[in-house]
Amino acid sequence: MTRSKFSFYIDISGNSFKPQEDKFTLPNSFLQGLGLDEDALLDEVEATTLLTRHSKFMELQVTFRTSGSMKCSRCLQSLPLHIERSELFIIKFWEQEPPMDNDPNLLWLPKGETRLELTSVFSDILLGLLPARFTCAGDENPRPCDQKVLEKLSELSVEP
Ligand SMILES: [Zn+2]
Repeated sequence: MTRSKFSFYIDISGNSFKPQEDKFTLPNSFLQGLGLDEDALLDEVEATTLLTRHSKFMELQVTFRTSGSMKCSRCLQSLPLHIERSELFIIKFWEQEPPMDNDPNLLWLPKGETRLELTSVFSDILLGLLPARFTCAGDENPRPCDQKVLEKLSELSVEP
C-alpha cells in the first residue's frame, strides 16, 4: 500500500470519562487516492469521531456524512447521492506484544499510546461507503430509468 500524504489522528491521552468529539473534513483529493467507484462523484466527507473512555478500553464511534452523485447501475443517468454511515470501533491496549486479531472493528494500541492514527480507519470505511447497486428506482431516487438509454444499451449488448 502506498504511503498516504494525509494524516488524521485524535489525541487519546486524556483521562476524562466525558465523551470527546473531533471533526474532520476528508478532502476530495484523499477520496481520489483511494480508487473509489468511478461512477461516483463525492463531495468532501465530513467525519465526526466520538471517543468514550472506559477503564480498560475505549469506544470510538465514527460517523461519515457526504453527498454527491452516482450513475444509475442500469441506465447510467447521474443521480444525487446522500450517505450517512456510522461505525463503532473498540480500542484496546496491549502490554507486551500486539495480539493477532483480524477483527476490523477492534483496534489494538500499545499501552501508553497517546494518539490514534485514523487514516487507515477512514480509508477502510470509505472503501465500503458506496452502494454496490444504485438505481433510479431506489428509495432515494424514485424515478424511472432513462428508457432510451436502456434501449441503446440492449442493442449494444446483442449476442453475436
Ligand atoms: Zn436508471
